[in-house]
Amino acid sequence: MTAAEPFARFAYQRHADQARAKPASHPVVIIGAGPVGLTLAIDLKLRGIDCVLLDDQDRIGGGSRAICFAKRTLEIWDRLGCAAPMLDKGVRWNVGKVFQHEELLYRFDLQPESGHKMPAFINLQQYYAEKFLVDRAQALGVDLRWLHRVIGLQSGDQGACITVETPDGIYLLDARFAIACDGARSPMRAMLGLEFMGEQFEDQFLIADVRMTADFPVERWFWFDPPFHGGQSCLLHKQPDDVWRIDLQLSPDADTEHERRPEVVRPRIERMLGHDEFDLEWISVYRFQCRRLERFVHGAVIFAGDAAHQVSPFGARGANSGVQDADNLGWKLAAALRGRTGLIASYDQERSQAADENILNSSRATDFIAPRHKAEARFRNAALALARQTEFGKRFVNSGRLSTPTAYAESPLSRMDTTPWAAGPPPGAPIPDAPLGNGYLSETLGQGFALLHRQGGAEAKGAEGLAIIEVFDQDEALIARFGLTSGAGYLIRPDRHVAARFHQVTHAAVTAALRKANAA
Ligand SMILES: Cc1cc2nc3c(=O)[nH]c(=O)nc-3n(C[C@H](O)[C@H](O)[C@H](O)COP(=O)(O)OP(=O)(O)OC[C@H]3O[C@@H](n4cnc5c(N)ncnc54)[C@H](O)[C@@H]3O)c2cc1C
Repeated sequence: MTAAEPFARFAYQRHADQARAKPASHPVVIIGAGPVGLTLAIDLKLRGIDCVLLDDQDRIGGGSRAICFAKRTLEIWDRLGCAAPMLDKGVRWNVGKVFQHEELLYRFDLQPESGHKMPAFINLQQYYAEKFLVDRAQALGVDLRWLHRVIGLQSGDQGACITVETPDGIYLLDARFAIACDGARSPMRAMLGLEFMGEQFEDQFLIADVRMTADFPVERWFWFDPPFHGGQSCLLHKQPDDVWRIDLQLSPDADTEHERRPEVVRPRIERMLGHDEFDLEWISVYRFQCRRLERFVHGAVIFAGDAAHQVSPFGARGANSGVQDADNLGWKLAAALRGRTGLIASYDQERSQAADENILNSSRATDFIAPRHKAEARFRNAALALARQTEFGKRFVNSGRLSTPTAYAESPLSRMDTTPWAAGPPPGAPIPDAPLGNGYLSETLGQGFALLHRQGGAEAKGAEGLAIIEVFDQDEALIARFGLTSGAGYLIRPDRHVAARFHQVTHAAVTAALRKANAA
C-alpha cells in the first residue's frame, strides 16, 4: 500500500535528436513532467514556443500526493484549456470546519461571494490532475519524452547543456533555457551543487486514503485532539471515486514501518469512523520540510515547483505554488526568447517572495498543529480555549491557512499607485474574477497583456497586442471589485496580476506602464 500500481503508462519513444552528430538546440528544455513542468510546457506551447519536456518515468504514479487544488490554480489551468475535466472529476468545496475534541470551534467559507467562475478549491487526486495535463499537452503537440532521464546539466549565461539517458543510450541537448521542475529531491540541484535552506519537522503524519460511501458534507474537517486520536490532530477530505483522505498526526518517535502496516492503520480508522466498512487504498507516513533555494535562477537554468521550494501540506501550498511559478515564468520566458531577458530576474524576485510567504504560512501551521516546545504548546492551548469563547480567539487558531496567490508588493514590474484607491487589487496583486457581460472576466482575458477599462473617460488606447476589455455600467460586481470609477482602468499582466491602474486611462500612462511591466 505504499507502492501503488501506475495510474497511466506511456511508451518510450526514440527521438530524431538522439541520432544527431551535434546536440540539437532548443529554446527551452523542461526537466520533469510533474504538475509544474506540464503546466509550463502547455503555457509555452500556447505562446508559440516549442519546448522539450523530459521525464525519467514512463508513468503517472497511483500513489497519493496532492489532493487540494486552489481557485488560482484552476484559473491558470482554465487559461491553458485544461480545467474543464478537472472540474468535472474533482470534488468542489468552499467550506471548512475546525473541531476541538468533539466540539465545533468554528466554520469558515473560503468563497463567501458569488460571481467567480472557479470554486475556492477542488479535491482531485494528483494523478488525475497530471493525466488531464498530459492529455492537454499531447493534444497541443508538446514534445513530451518519457524515459528520458537527465543525468548531466551545465549552465552558462547563454545556454545550458543537458545530458539525457534513455533505454537507447545517451544523447546531448542544448537549450537557451533549461527549467528544472524535477521535484523535491531534484537531481538538477545536486548537479549544480546547490543546497536547500530551511528546516525539517520531526513530527510524522499518517496519510490513509480510504474507499467508502459516506454522507459527510463536502467540507474540509480538521480536529485538534479528537476523542478517536487523543492528543493529536486529524484532517478529513473527500476525493472523487468515494475515496476519503484521512491525515493523522503521529508522534515524532513513532515507528514508521509499524505505523504504516494495514493491521495497525485499520483500528485507528475504525475508531474514527465508528465502523469497518471501508477499504484502504493507500497508506504512507510523511515527515515534512519547509525549505527553498536561495536563488531560483542560475544562469540559463531556472528552478520551479518542489525543485525550488518545499512546504508542509498544511495549506495545500506545494503544487498550487508550483503551478503559480509556471504561470509567472511562461510569459517571461517567451519574452526573453524574443530578446527581453530583463524579465527573468523578476521571476526570481517575485517567486522568492511567494516561496517565503508559503514557507512562513506552512511553518506556522505546522508549529501550531504539532508544537515543538512547551511555550508553543501553551500558546496553542490558550488559543484553542479563547476560540471556544470569542470570535476574536478564532483568528489565532491555525489548522493551515489555505493557499492563495501572492501579491507581489515590491515587484519591479509594477507602476505604483500615486493617489489612493477606494477599492480594487493594488499593483502586483492577483486580480479577482468577476462576472463580465454574459461570462466571466477570467475567460475574457487572453494569454497576453490586457487593459480593463470602464467607459466614460478618455478613449482607451493601448499599445500593439494589448487586449482592450471594456466594462459597462451593468457589470456592477466587477466595477465594485476593482473600484472602477468612470474612465478608470487596470493594466493586467499575462499572469493576471495588476501591472498598473489609472484613475483616468491615457495612452501615455498605459504605454509607460507597459514598458515597465516588460522590464523594457
Ligand atoms: C502527502 C502529500 C500531500 C500533498 N498535498 C498537497 C495538496 O493537497 N495540494 C498541493 O498543492 N500540494 C500538495 N502536495 C505537494 C505536491 O504533491 C507537490 O508540491 C507537487 O507534486 C510538486 O510538483 P512538481 O511538478 O514540482 O514536482 P513532482 O510532482 O515531484 O514532479 C517531478 C517530476 O520530475 C521527474 N524527474 C525527476 N528527476 C528527473 C530527471 N533526472 N530527469 C527527468 N525527469 C526527472 C519525476 O519523475 C517527476 O515526474 C502534497 C504532497 C504530499 C507528499
